[in-house]
Amino acid sequence: MKILFSGHDFKYETEATVKLFIPSRFTFHYDITDAPGDIVMSRLKTGKKYTYLYAYCRLNGKSCRKACHIPNAGADKNTCEHEICRLIYLCLQQLTGITPPWGLMTGIRPVKKMVSLLESGADKQQAFQILKDKYMVSQSRLELAYMTAENQIPLLKGMDCKTISLYISIPFCPTRCSYCSFISHSMDSARKLIPDYIRYLCREIEILGKIINNLGLKTDTVYFGGGTPTSLEASQLEIIMNKLAECIDISSVREYNVEAGRPDTITMDKLQTIKKSGVTRISVNPQTLNNDVLKIIGRRHTAEDTVKAFYMAREAGFDNINMDLIAGLPGDTYQSFENTLDKVLEMNPESITVHTLTIKRSAKLYDEKVKTSADNPTSKMVGKSIELLPEHGYNPYYLYRQKNTIENLENIGFAKKGKESLYNIFIMDETQTILGAGCAASTKLVTPDGKITRIHNYKFPYEYINRFNELMEKKKQIYEILEK
Ligand code: SF4
Repeated sequence: MKILFSGHDFKYETEATVKLFIPSRFTFHYDITDAPGDIVMSRLKTGKKYTYLYAYCRLNGKSCRKACHIPNAGADKNTCEHEICRLIYLCLQQLTGITPPWGLMTGIRPVKKMVSLLESGADKQQAFQILKDKYMVSQSRLELAYMTAENQIPLLKGMDCKTISLYISIPFCPTRCSYCSFISHSMDSARKLIPDYIRYLCREIEILGKIINNLGLKTDTVYFGGGTPTSLEASQLEIIMNKLAECIDISSVREYNVEAGRPDTITMDKLQTIKKSGVTRISVNPQTLNNDVLKIIGRRHTAEDTVKAFYMAREAGFDNINMDLIAGLPGDTYQSFENTLDKVLEMNPESITVHTLTIKRSAKLYDEKVKTSADNPTSKMVGKSIELLPEHGYNPYYLYRQKNTIENLENIGFAKKGKESLYNIFIMDETQTILGAGCAASTKLVTPDGKITRIHNYKFPYEYINRFNELMEKKKQIYEILEK
């Protein structure tokens, strides 16, 4: 499909708006006024008093056009960009009959906007009106964003710029799931690299420990993610966690997370090791409790393995367990999703995170064009979670969106009161510095003026190991930025 511009170059936002309706690939053309086939065209022209904005879309032979004008005095870049996207949105809504749940909001953090409106003094109705007028957000998502913001706001109070979170990346998994777009390597292909990876990761932890101590920072939360950290042996996890405890004062840590995502990696030995090291919260992720679907998505475990792993974690003393589910998995049906929800509720974890399937280019499933269908109605599955989980005491406390998610839906973390994951809130709210160690980890430095600087570690383990010194040079910026 062709996207044509004239008089402006709002490429990124225009593309994001078109993607709300049409998940195809686009070509971009400047200064072309028409072309055959399906097109999205927009134009900006500045007159003497007004700036004129225009959109024209043609899909499957049907077309729609919209126009508006703004006094030149108010026609700054952001306003014009937003208005052009609004016109395109209205055209495509009319041509496709689709009304995206988050309206014209394309960012990944919709709750941040709600939190900022409420904190600046708007009441619920005013906040709803502003977001409805500007972004055409649906009533159901306004309510969801409000409930999430209400649960987050008290947990965000009293944050101080001397506290940080720490992210440790273990980019290995037993096998690669068909929908995976993370930098994760199957254990079979990565086994040889692991000892070196652990050695370098420990060196980076030492370096971060010095930075934390020299700058007088306090570690608030720790998150071991990846990948599946529990793919490592208990003794390997112990080496990393001992190094962390040796270099960083973890006595102030309020939450110590480990993604034990894949049930087929969980053993009593590993659970006891991480518990002894101070871990307070783990995730045991069924994704689905339908064995046929598990096979389709390339997981080597069964639903029964998940249940076993969950109760083993209870036996090891974990009283804060999260379970991740995915709505819209290939082969799943509404009944089977409902069944998964019911069984997970029976297990009674402290939090449940409901993701919507997202298929990025790097995923094996990308070419299979997974679509929602009558049997697999993703928005109905997510809707059921939003209705059912609060009835059982699980309230939404963090939420984010991703590109290429089925029906432009979202991922929602639900938790029992007091069991919300602080790390998850902080990463979405972006009010706390996060120092990342390991390959593909990113460091996000937040200064009191609200400015965010990101430093990305190399993506692949061999690159991380081979270019370690270069990377640590780059990380010296942490001092310069945080010392301010
Ligand atoms: S468990 Fe997660 S990180 Fe690992 S392969 Fe599956 S989706 Fe990717």
